[in-house]
Amino acid sequence: MTFPDLTADLKAELPELKGRLAANVSLSDITWFRVGGPAQLLFSPADEADLAYFLKHAPRDLPVTVMGLGSNLLVRDGGLPGIVIRLGRGFASVGAEEGHKVRSGTAVPDVKVARAAAEAGIAGLAFYRGIPGSIGGALRMNAGAHGRETKDVLIEARAVDREGNTHTLSLAEMGFTYRHSRVPDDFILTAALFQGAPGDPAAILREMDEVADYREQNQPIRERTGGSTFKNPPGHSAWKLVDEAGCRGLRVGGAKVSDMHCNFLINEGGATAEDIERLGETVRARVKARCGVMLEWEIIRLGLPLPGRATGEALAEATVS
Ligand SMILES: Cc1cc2nc3c(=O)[nH]c(=O)nc-3n(C[C@H](O)[C@H](O)[C@H](O)COP(=O)(O)OP(=O)(O)OC[C@H]3O[C@@H](n4cnc5c(N)ncnc54)[C@H](O)[C@@H]3O)c2cc1C
Repeated sequence: MTFPDLTADLKAELPELKGRLAANVSLSDITWFRVGGPAQLLFSPADEADLAYFLKHAPRDLPVTVMGLGSNLLVRDGGLPGIVIRLGRGFASVGAEEGHKVRSGTAVPDVKVARAAAEAGIAGLAFYRGIPGSIGGALRMNAGAHGRETKDVLIEARAVDREGNTHTLSLAEMGFTYRHSRVPDDFILTAALFQGAPGDPAAILREMDEVADYREQNQPIRERTGGSTFKNPPGHSAWKLVDEAGCRGLRVGGAKVSDMHCNFLINEGGATAEDIERLGETVRARVKARCGVMLEWEIIRLGLPLPGRATGEALAEATVS
């Protein structure tokens, strides 16, 4: 499946563009699940000004999607029409600032923020050690672990909107709730400022090692996965409901509910995005039938199915082993 190549038209319309533009780039090479069709156009802006220029002048009818490290995404097999923006080198600086603060671009992996904070003797950001996404994804998703969330450490974030205007968003304006922010859909987050507390570098590095060890023992972090599939419903753990509904180890095609942690779906090798979505929808239907709770996807599903194929709850009737 390929989309019409718009790169030449766009380059002609945006002569001052500095970043990289490429057509029909496979997203299965980028997402953690290692599935998904192509991005019609993949744009990697050189810096924030380049991003703003692009957004201001790109045709309005082209949908824009931003991707971080793809650790929370299921891109469907038909791919993503329009423009996918992926921030790279121009958004990858991280450093400590006076007053136990850390400033970071949003392309920086969470683990690097944890490490920069530790080395500067800044406590409170060690939980980022275990989250395999970028700071952009952490801001959008209010990523958290081990009792802390992004909302506990953020001072402010910067963003560029679809018109190319820049914004500084306070913590309150981010509107964080559980694995969610109220940042407008068209905002592309570019930088963040975090507040930590004084700490001993050696002790923080030890805490980070504990986080890493815990992950290694309790989550299938070396698999092709999207992390926690479903949000914990109020008063419940999603994994317990999945287990009670008999879904541990359940398979659809090349997709499987992890034996190690049954709120994780894994691509055992040959899975399609449809296999994974069908498995997730089947789990949701079984949990609803068994426990009366409709689980909500935490993983974000994006893009088109292959022609003639279904998406969402319509997939749940599969015969599964
Ligand atoms: C093994 C594993 C373990 C995980 N453990 C945890 C955990 O403990 N806690 C947790 O919270 N999550 C966890 N996750 C999920 C995931 O790592 C987080 O949600 C992470 O914050 C996603 O970041 P990302 O860069 O990969 O974003 P992506 O998956 O690429 O995107 C996620 C969302 O963020 C948006 N986004 C990305 N960058 C930007 C940007 N610059 N501006 C605006 N929007 C943006 C995307 O459009 C999308 O809506 C885990 C995932 C895996 C695979």
